[in-house]
Amino acid sequence: NHDFDVISAARNWRTDASQDATPHQIVSDIFASDVLGLEQLKTRLSKPVHKSLQATLERGETLDPGIADTVALAMKTWAMEKGATHYTHWFHPLTGSTAEKHDSFVTPAGDGQAIATFSGKELIQAEPDASSFPSGGLRATFEARGYTAWDASSPAFIMRHANGATLCIPTAFASWTGEALDTKTPLLRSVEALNTAVTPALHLFGASEGTRVGSSLGAEQEYFLIAEEYFYRRPDLVMTGRTLFGAQPPRGQELEDHYFGAIPDRVLTFMTDAETQMYALGIPVKTRHNEVAPGQFEIAPIYEDSNIAADHQQLIMQILRNTARKYGLVALLHEKPFAGINGSGKHCNWSMSTNKGENLLEPGDTPHENMQFLFFCSAVIKAVDDHQDLLRISVASASNDHRLGANEAPPAILSIFLGSELTDIFERIESGQGGRGTAAGLLGLGTSVLPPLPRHAGDRNRTSPFAFTGNKFEFRAAGSSQSISFPITVLNLIVADAVSQLTAELQRKLDGGADLNTAVAELVRSTYQAHKRIVFNGDGYSDAWHQEAEHTRGLLNLRTSLDAIEHLSSPKNAALFQKFRVLDDRELAARQEIMYDIYFKTVNIEGETTEYMARTMILPSAVKYLGDLHAAGDSRAVMGIESEVSGAADELYDAIQTLSAQNAASGGDEVHEKAHHMRDHVLPAMLSVRQAADKLEKVVAEQHWPLPTYRQMLFVK
Ligand code: ADP
Ligand code: MG
Repeated sequence: NHDFDVISAARNWRTDASQDATPHQIVSDIFASDVLGLEQLKTRLSKPVHKSLQATLERGETLDPGIADTVALAMKTWAMEKGATHYTHWFHPLTGSTAEKHDSFVTPAGDGQAIATFSGKELIQAEPDASSFPSGGLRATFEARGYTAWDASSPAFIMRHANGATLCIPTAFASWTGEALDTKTPLLRSVEALNTAVTPALHLFGASEGTRVGSSLGAEQEYFLIAEEYFYRRPDLVMTGRTLFGAQPPRGQELEDHYFGAIPDRVLTFMTDAETQMYALGIPVKTRHNEVAPGQFEIAPIYEDSNIAADHQQLIMQILRNTARKYGLVALLHEKPFAGINGSGKHCNWSMSTNKGENLLEPGDTPHENMQFLFFCSAVIKAVDDHQDLLRISVASASNDHRLGANEAPPAILSIFLGSELTDIFERIESGQGGRGTAAGLLGLGTSVLPPLPRHAGDRNRTSPFAFTGNKFEFRAAGSSQSISFPITVLNLIVADAVSQLTAELQRKLDGGADLNTAVAELVRSTYQAHKRIVFNGDGYSDAWHQEAEHTRGLLNLRTSLDAIEHLSSPKNAALFQKFRVLDDRELAARQEIMYDIYFKTVNIEGETTEYMARTMILPSAVKYLGDLHAAGDSRAVMGIESEVSGAADELYDAIQTLSAQNAASGGDEVHEKAHHMRDHVLPAMLSVRQAADKLEKVVAEQHWPLPTYRQMLFVK
């Protein structure tokens, strides 16, 4: 009686994928073949033009408008050779995804002919009339124009679809008054802030002139795959990206046989296809594997410059979504598509490095390198402690609330895992073991060099939201569906803040006559002392930690996203964003407004969808089954089931009435009031509806149940 077919869900995939590319082909023909980098432009531009462009791309100098037309022509020619018919300014609006508006290269010339045009002006700037993107009040609708401006530091690329291709030009998106309306602009500003803060410190450590600092990022993307057949039978998945109903399957992830298990053939074919497309876009995809939950997978590229990593991360999500469909699958990027089953995160591996290729978070071989490492490591510890709220806010969303603090994902409390070896070193420095830096004993550890610092993280702690993993920090609280731009922006900013404070202190000590070793030793000691409460190497999932963190250590526990978002515009945060010119007060307020708004809209859609499905799909199926039972006589079995079903159906009916009333209420006129109404009234009412419905799912005859179940969805391979 089902109108969906479990057999076809399992079979519905094509095997006509073309032959996998060989490693040789990937290296020689495919990798970055759809990317227009400086290297490719070299053969297409005159030397002076190329040099001028290089200055812009590599040193951030303003683009010479005089060369724009020439560059545009070269780009157009290349793109058309690649089969592109259109171009688009590709940008990152505050929705968290990307946006594009395609313009054809081809312009009808009026005489029945068509000519291909693309000018320097069109390359550098466009006005996409994107008045419907959230602006958080930055644009009044009567002057809603925003413009996009070429980000020459991220290479243009070709996006392909089944029968064509488009040249995508990465751009920033701003209002005419110069306010950032996107996630790229503040990210670029934060990289500049990091550079400005860190280079003076590096000079104290003897760095040469011309040293620039940027941040690197590698994001591990988790996602689920389910059969398309099921996806489109579930209005909740289609509308909200997560299941709003669903009883626990008899088998969940307890066998742990999926984790790192053999990747099913169909999935591997999908992954290979997706990866080949990513290679063409120059995305350095490196690892793929099954995750813990059934149906859950992970893909991770090698780290890159953070602005490019953020662009690539959006492309990864898009390619996963698009490619899954070719194999009869749907990629679910939601943080918690299935209740009771592990959710999906996006671990952000972050470090800072110089244009000379030096990773500042890499413990070194020499005492000098280690001193510098400990200085920057202390700065990160200080940054996370000083700005726990901002890191929490950077991952706040309605969807991530279902994941953070559930026993599978880092808690909403921020802490740092350093690992036992590194913690031991900091502890020894703090306790002054061996006294102050003597001539022979750097940092007073009583040896001529520091004990060898851990070059590779020996121990792992999956429960920490922020872990040192050998030569980088891994921020694990980011959600699978979110843009990584804001978390990186925050990381860059807070570390810039800590480094600039510590550098000023170091400078004072040096001015006071201290030698560098002694001054750094003192600074590391006092910084660690002041901020060690944020270091925690134990089990972040345990109740004991929650108690200790909040009550003994006084760490922030911003349980829900709304608790966190509230802090975004605090005077401390506004001053910080302003000081480093990452966001001004208006831009910051706009982001806060948009976060509230997206939260409100997300839960509002969920509330409406829950009501709709419960009323028009689930309750009717229970009623139908009750009718069957009624006609089946009055045996003890029939009467018993009937009373169970009718009990749960009554419960469902009552819960629907309550939810309906909450869906109709608003909570206030302000967007944060509406958001709070959603959290405090709609979400609990949805949960009651779900509980009654899930009870019914376990007693209503399967042939009457209108929705694909967890048991079906999670185990298709
Ligand atoms: P691990 O085994 O610690 O998870 P991997 O080498 O598998 O480490 O890296 C996980 C992610 O971290 C990858 O995306 C990787 O490129 C990235 N990564 C490695 N080194 C750095 C670094 N210095 N800065 C930022 N990301 C890094
Ligand atoms: Mg992982």
